[in-house]
Amino acid sequence: MTQSFEIKAFGNQAKEAELEQLSIQRRKPTPHDVEIDILFCGVCHSDLHTARSEWGPTMYPCVPGHEIVGKVRNVGGHVSKFKVGDMVGVGCMVDSCRECEYCKEGLEQYCEPGMVGTYNAPDPYFPGSPTFGGYSETVVVDEHYVLRIPDNLDLAAAAPLLCAGITTYSPLHHWQVGPGKKVGVVGIGGLGHMAIKIAKAMGAHVVAFTTSETKFAEAKRLGADEVVLSKDKEQMAAFKGKLHFILDAVSAEHDINAYLRLLRVDGSLALVGAPEHPLPVAAFSLIVGRKSFAGSSIGGIRETQEMLDFCGEHNITADIEMIDIQNINEAYERLLKGDVKYRFVIDMASLKGN
Ligand code: NAP
Ligand code: ZN
Ligand code: ZN
Repeated sequence: MTQSFEIKAFGNQAKEAELEQLSIQRRKPTPHDVEIDILFCGVCHSDLHTARSEWGPTMYPCVPGHEIVGKVRNVGGHVSKFKVGDMVGVGCMVDSCRECEYCKEGLEQYCEPGMVGTYNAPDPYFPGSPTFGGYSETVVVDEHYVLRIPDNLDLAAAAPLLCAGITTYSPLHHWQVGPGKKVGVVGIGGLGHMAIKIAKAMGAHVVAFTTSETKFAEAKRLGADEVVLSKDKEQMAAFKGKLHFILDAVSAEHDINAYLRLLRVDGSLALVGAPEHPLPVAAFSLIVGRKSFAGSSIGGIRETQEMLDFCGEHNITADIEMIDIQNINEAYERLLKGDVKYRFVIDMASLKGN
């Protein structure tokens, strides 16, 4: 049986239930494990989709959190990449098969038997239990899935890089965004605001699309060259056929066809936003102009480290609002209203003090 120890966490017991303090078990570190004291954890919209079973039945109790930054407290005997005291991060996955062609290529997020998500995945160490995420005191993770945080970055503001950062960096990189390319970013939330900063640092001309008038001026401060109020038909029409690539980071239903129209011939629109319900696409939105409608999931471990190092070099972190864990339910309600600029990060000291 796996040896374990008990820690404090925050999670919910059913889809309608609010998050509250719970006790959970972590495994004692095995030889390849790193035990991390969690300092900060970002609040991703996926945490809310999962806590509320919006993507299908969630395994409860659900302890979300996959934008984890912390300090190494203990390492197993065979750990070679990290030592006690290192500042490290953990993102959306904590394991994968390591043998399939995708794992071997460094695309662990597309592992054939499936990656092990940081939360709400069957825990291979505790049969019958889900994995538990970063809304907790500590986490124990195999060193292969642990990332190094560049020294120059603020730790709290770097936490969102572990999901929002890699989820936007990976498709921007894959679709070769850079100088000479016009890129649209749709939905200026946690992911979208990172996409603006990263696409700009990659050298692209960035056009931000928002439904929120309050974000209009700020999108430029984040690095957008142009901003479009997506509810305004005239402003949208001005970009018809102009964009090489669009990254769509919207968390709810919206009209994809209105954005496909803005692509140039051979342009691609990649969805990273994962709304609860399907998004209808008209055939002619794709046929006329040989356009591609694609998707992208987080990024592999090697690429996540590459993204962190890129953000270190360009001094990129998230714009955050720090909260205590006790305010997480209110934060979810504000997230649903788009009322966060641009990522909540939980100061995990608030859990320890409880
Ligand atoms: P977020 O901070 O809540 O941002 C979502 C943004 O979408 C909002 O700020 C808003 O932007 C826009 N939006 C919200 N409701 C809308 C509506 N009804 N119509 C049009 N626009 C709307 O969420 P997030 O944490 O960035 O996550 C975004 C999505 O990506 C979520 O679905 C999340 O689960 C998903 N996700 C996917 C991956 C992946 O691997 N593919 C990874 C992480 C997250 P404006 O105010 O600017 O309009
Ligand atoms: Zn996420
Ligand atoms: Zn695999």
